[in-house]
Amino acid sequence: MLKKAMEKILTPRESDELISAFDQIGDIIIVRIPDFLLPKKKLIGETLLQEVKKAKSVFYQASAVEGDFRTRNLEILAGEDRTETEYKEFGCKFTVDVENAFFSPRLSTERERIANLVKDGETIVNMFAGVGMFSIMAAKKKKCKVYSIDINPVASKLCEKNISSNKLLGNVITINGDASNIIKKQLENKSDRTLMLLPERSDEFLQSAINATKSGGIIHYYSHIHADKKSESGKLSEEHYLQVTPVKSEIVGSKIVRPIGPRFYQTVVDVKITK
Ligand code: SAM
Repeated sequence: MLKKAMEKILTPRESDELISAFDQIGDIIIVRIPDFLLPKKKLIGETLLQEVKKAKSVFYQASAVEGDFRTRNLEILAGEDRTETEYKEFGCKFTVDVENAFFSPRLSTERERIANLVKDGETIVNMFAGVGMFSIMAAKKKKCKVYSIDINPVASKLCEKNISSNKLLGNVITINGDASNIIKKQLENKSDRTLMLLPERSDEFLQSAINATKSGGIIHYYSHIHADKKSESGKLSEEHYLQVTPVKSEIVGSKIVRPIGPRFYQTVVDVKITK
């Protein structure tokens, strides 16, 4: 239906390109528009608003995800100029701010995978937790304690709100600040499972992740890997991890989380460390 509507204003090729580049998060649509289509951006926004039933706002993503907070600039194309919305995933409800704190619906499969690995009684350190998506889904699924760290105050505030909307006070603990400093001050050797979802800087934070994790615990090490063949990206990220790690590590598994560009993949390596 959407393809049909877009074809009223775009060629079939243009409309294919556009449809693969948009996300719906609650009642907000975010669309990446190639340069050659920018003169039509308002028309694209108005058409999307008309055609997508639940949508109240359409934004154009005007910058890449960037900076320490991994946020992006958005420009309103149609509807309400509001970047906060409600989003539901696997029975949990979240308030997200699509401009001022990192959020991606494209990580939902990975969030479910991690939540399914968690066991009752675990302590988890989520080093780069954003608005608490992974932390809350894990704590909703199993009786665990999650330290949910983020350096962005907007993300930590939303995480606090999400903890109380999901009735997880005491199970998920929000901490605002730099993950390395916080681990050093209060979380050394506390974690059974440590998440490092800041793939661009994993190597820089690996020692802190190791410091947080108990001997025998698991680290989920995310990275961005260039691979000529998609099927090789998991193996390449395992090799990279083994080159940079200073501790004895048993690779439990590895996989592609999502493609991020031509021959570039976000990957995760799950490792059991011994100290
Ligand atoms: N795990 C979250 C999710 O999936 O929604 C967010 C991941 S996002 C890719 C990375 C997050 O790391 C951002 O929210 C950013 O604010 C945070 N961050 C960046 N540097 C940090 C640091 N030194 N310590 C703690 N958090 C940091």
